[in-house]
Amino acid sequence: MTTAAPVKTQYEAIIGLETHCQLSTATKIFCNCSTEFGAVPNQNVCPICLGMPGVLPVLNEKVLEYAVKAGLALNCEIASYSKFDRKQYFYPDLPKNYQISQYDLPIAKDGWLEIELLDEQGNPTRKRIGITRLHMEEDAGKLVHGGSVGEASRNETRLSGSTHSLVDFNRTGVALAEIVSEPDLRSGQEAAEYAQELRRILRYLGVSDGNMQEGSLRCDVNISIRPYGQEQFGVKVEIKNMNSFSAIHRAIDYEIARQTKALENGEKIFQETRLWEEGNQRTISMRSKEGSSDYRYFPEPDLCPIELPGEQLQTWQEELPELPAAKRHRYETRLGLSAYDARVLTDDRGVAEYFEAVVAAGGNPKQAANWVMGEITAYLNQQKLSISQIAFPAVGLAELIALIEKGTISGKIAKEILPELLVKGGSVTKLIESKGLVQISDAGELDKVIEAVLAANPKELAQYRSGKTKLLGFFVGQVMKETGGRADPKLTNQLMAKKLNA
Ligand SMILES: [Zn+2]
Repeated sequence: MTTAAPVKTQYEAIIGLETHCQLSTATKIFCNCSTEFGAVPNQNVCPICLGMPGVLPVLNEKVLEYAVKAGLALNCEIASYSKFDRKQYFYPDLPKNYQISQYDLPIAKDGWLEIELLDEQGNPTRKRIGITRLHMEEDAGKLVHGGSVGEASRNETRLSGSTHSLVDFNRTGVALAEIVSEPDLRSGQEAAEYAQELRRILRYLGVSDGNMQEGSLRCDVNISIRPYGQEQFGVKVEIKNMNSFSAIHRAIDYEIARQTKALENGEKIFQETRLWEEGNQRTISMRSKEGSSDYRYFPEPDLCPIELPGEQLQTWQEELPELPAAKRHRYETRLGLSAYDARVLTDDRGVAEYFEAVVAAGGNPKQAANWVMGEITAYLNQQKLSISQIAFPAVGLAELIALIEKGTISGKIAKEILPELLVKGGSVTKLIESKGLVQISDAGELDKVIEAVLAANPKELAQYRSGKTKLLGFFVGQVMKETGGRADPKLTNQLMAKKLNA
């Protein structure tokens, strides 16, 4: 997590986010076309998503389920009566010339999510951010200017030297949830944390992969500034084109600084849409915005309104998993972990569940947290794997931790055998026995090794006895070498000191 110093001015920033998140259904919202990412352009289309005359959309039930679950997880009020509307506008990526969305009766409204910010000492500050609404809608297609239809995931790709444009309708009709926050955010850091928490929640629910590079999660920021104490909002600027959390953070901080400077110089802020330029780390003006556009919304006549039975709502509510914020609280209060550890462990649901399984199998929570956040995470990052892909079960890690606590193996040996366990799985006890790695904690056995080491190093022994006591480390090191690292380090130290000082 970034901890850049907040921009300090006499002005207060008022920030709200509009997030479009792709719901991870196998088929589109109103037809049976596949939603596969990266398919050959215009392969996943049909008369319905191409808006041919006379076709009828049918709502994908999964979309409703996912939207309602997201609404519930965001503490929203779920509408018992909701409907779809047509939003009219013309753009070449929209074959019907209207988008099916929700206008005055969204499926969910009036919710909140909790963000958590850690200061440099790791102390958390928590804040509730209001959710104005969540509604379902279909995505538009993708324009490619210049002829290349290769990479790119956003709705539009502009290549230099464009001579013509192409359109790909594969994503036309892909299900989206649009989530609008209240203007409760005050800094780039808060906004980035809000977007991350939103993504965590959606991923926990399994309703979206939240992949920003593929455009599954797209955030637009609304930002204005006003002098502290002033009631009235300043002029609002919209920022688009941020495809990472750090870009959201930096774009907002840049924009706060830009608007502050403009006001201090007596300049006017214009209502406009600005783009974040990652390369130059700045926002640039894209177009001015004159009031809100008139989309001539009207109820979609081809789809019936949605009435959600209370029992259905109840079932979906019961299917919700424990969410990240609740997990963080529980890890801190019940397992005694720090806010930082709780945060890292709960970032990914799979990792959190693995960690919990280690604890359930008897693993000490702090030790389990250290192993999961340290060695195992490093391995996963290095191998580009997810935790579900390792062969080492949680119960195995609990066993490993117990063996270290009992002194059967040293922490060092445990780290050495971990890579093999992660790849092959199997019993930890069997592995250390077969490799002869059991720690030597028997004083009699260690004494023999110590005698041999002293006999083999008479010069150092003489130096030690004439006052060079620092050589204790050298002798212990020799014992470790002789035993292949299996000697119990604490006991070896004690026995060696005793022998040397005898
Ligand atoms: Zn279709």
